[in-house]
Amino acid sequence: MNPFTYPAALRAAGAVVIAVDLVMAGLVENAFCNIRPPGHHAERGRAMGFCIFNNIAVGTAHAMAQHGLKRVAIVDFDVHHGNGTEEIFATDQRVMLCSTFQHPFYPYSGSESASDHIINVPLKAGASGMEFRSAVTKHWLPALERFKPEFIMISAGFDAHREDDMSSLGLVEADYAWVTEQIQDIAVRYAGGRIVSALEGGYELHALGRSATAHVKQLSGL
Ligand SMILES: [Zn+2]
Repeated sequence: MNPFTYPAALRAAGAVVIAVDLVMAGLVENAFCNIRPPGHHAERGRAMGFCIFNNIAVGTAHAMAQHGLKRVAIVDFDVHHGNGTEEIFATDQRVMLCSTFQHPFYPYSGSESASDHIINVPLKAGASGMEFRSAVTKHWLPALERFKPEFIMISAGFDAHREDDMSSLGLVEADYAWVTEQIQDIAVRYAGGRIVSALEGGYELHALGRSATAHVKQLSGL
């Protein structure tokens, strides 16, 4: 941390709140929050793993409290398990959490907590984009079809990229564009296209830039 961390963390969480408001007002169909610090490891009362506040959880809670939404899906393709997001919404049936992550790997959680609204899909070190895609197709998409979310939040971490030394998965830009398209397809059918995506991890800056661009291009229909 440094003297600027706290205001940056407030702005990161605030960006997701504003994005939810803009999408709910119909001013934009979707939004990508290009923020740091990330959020998905932060629990209700504990900062963790570079995360100060759980940005995506703050936005999700705001969507339910302020806009009265009853079914919000959070999809998380960061290479790490979003333990904070799960801790916050584990007993809240209004929130479905779909996650893929390398396992066993930091924070060493997520393999045993699956319930009908927590869809954890651990991937082994070395898994490729094809294995990621088949996990999403087999586990996330049927669960999201059942849940019929009114709004979709994305914990968009790009640290599963094969050039990112943080992890040992083999995703590339095309995989991020593909998963974004699958999420959009669900959003269009059930949520009026409403998506708010927030940056999580991604530590090889060139791969991060290219991957985030692929994600945003798909979201914006470019
Ligand atoms: Zn991560």
